[in-house]
Amino acid sequence: MAIDFTFPPEIDEIRFKVRDFLDQVVRPVERKADENDWDRDDWIKAIIEMRGAAKDWGLWLPHMPKEYGGMGLGHVAMASVAAEAGKTRMGPFAMNAQAPDEGNMHTLLHWASAEQKEKYLKPLCDGWMRSCFAMTEPEVAGSDPTLIQTKAYEDGDEWVISGHKWFISGARGANFAILIARTEDDPELPQAANSAFIVDIPSEGWEVVRDVATLSGSHNHCEIRITDLRVHKSQMLGGRGQGHLLGQARLGPARLAHCMRWIGQAEVALDMMVDRALNRYSHGSLLAEKQGIQWMIADSAMELYQCKLMVLHSAFLIDSGVDFKTEVSMAKHFVANALWRIIDRAIQVHGALGYSSDTPLGEMMKQARWARFADGADEIHQMRIAQRTIAAYKDNGTTKAATGNLPL
Ligand SMILES: Cc1cc2nc3c(=O)[nH]c(=O)nc-3n(C[C@H](O)[C@H](O)[C@H](O)COP(=O)(O)OP(=O)(O)OC[C@H]3O[C@@H](n4cnc5c(N)ncnc54)[C@H](O)[C@@H]3O)c2cc1C
Repeated sequence: MAIDFTFPPEIDEIRFKVRDFLDQVVRPVERKADENDWDRDDWIKAIIEMRGAAKDWGLWLPHMPKEYGGMGLGHVAMASVAAEAGKTRMGPFAMNAQAPDEGNMHTLLHWASAEQKEKYLKPLCDGWMRSCFAMTEPEVAGSDPTLIQTKAYEDGDEWVISGHKWFISGARGANFAILIARTEDDPELPQAANSAFIVDIPSEGWEVVRDVATLSGSHNHCEIRITDLRVHKSQMLGGRGQGHLLGQARLGPARLAHCMRWIGQAEVALDMMVDRALNRYSHGSLLAEKQGIQWMIADSAMELYQCKLMVLHSAFLIDSGVDFKTEVSMAKHFVANALWRIIDRAIQVHGALGYSSDTPLGEMMKQARWARFADGADEIHQMRIAQRTIAAYKDNGTTKAATGNLPL
């Protein structure tokens, strides 16, 4: 049988090492931060220390090839690492595998010129730089990148860019941005109107207007005003009109990386749900013995199992170099929604305690809410999944190819 869901011993070894690293290095730091109400400077100091430890433990840059100082893990192996790291707030940061840098590293690895790799990818991998990805605009639907209004025109050896972006994660403190702007007035395909540029930060014409406050506070998702910003033509990333292609290539693995971390969060919620049910007594028995509670536990367990299967299969497809778009869309939609439902049930089983800030569940739920529209809203994924399912039926007289193309 070719289907084998066990990891080879060397990957299991890494998985267990990550678990130990989180227990011994990351969780104590998070506890200390919570107890002492840390400010930004405290965090920076702690992150530098945790990153030093990650390097010492051999857990630096799990997703990048060895030539960039990484561990060279494929996407399946990465799922096991990221699902562990995602159980903590700072685990991905400690290992330099956090969004949006992780997605930007993949993008630069595949699209950047040798000079761009030297100038931007290397320091990003070494942990000396941070980055952001600037695509979404307040004025037009982020779901449809053909509407992007930020515009770039050529002037001699330079491009001059003006526009408006928002929700640009990590923009404050980033050393550069990958910026998507419209360069083509009349492209053959509407999707070929945009190009990507690497913009140094700070640059004249790049202004952080504000850190947009969200449901869960301010987390460096910034509004940016871009006014006559000049970049040399060598700062274009990929070719003219390839901005959409690059965005799609970036988003596939980046979406799956989110799913891996969300699995970690969902598992924390389910563990907490069961633990509470085993320790809370009401009307003659423990909550764990009540059928109503067991249904919540069972639904959550089944959903988390589906999340894991979908993510592992999608990761396997990416590693195999075959088309993964439908499966990653399905995984992104399913895991984002399952995460929300599982955290909600965990809060229900905790009662008032779940609604309080004495457990991490409330904060986890606020974070989980953006999962259903960022990096592709639910409805966009559903639209694409339906289109591909209909196309599969039209092409083959069966929808089989659109349901994971599994040998069933
Ligand atoms: C925490 C967070 C971090 C983010 N980080 C970044 C970042 O680093 N860089 C960046 O560029 N962007 C970032 N974003 C923006 C994110 O990618 C967008 O929110 C997303 O692409 C959706 O775009 P929008 O918000 O403009 O919603 P819209 O496109 O306006 O859509 C709003 C809603 O309309 C519905 N809808 C839209 N189109 C359709 C359709 N065709 N059919 C049916 N329903 C539809 C959906 O329900 C959707 O949720 C971030 C967002 C959040 C919340």
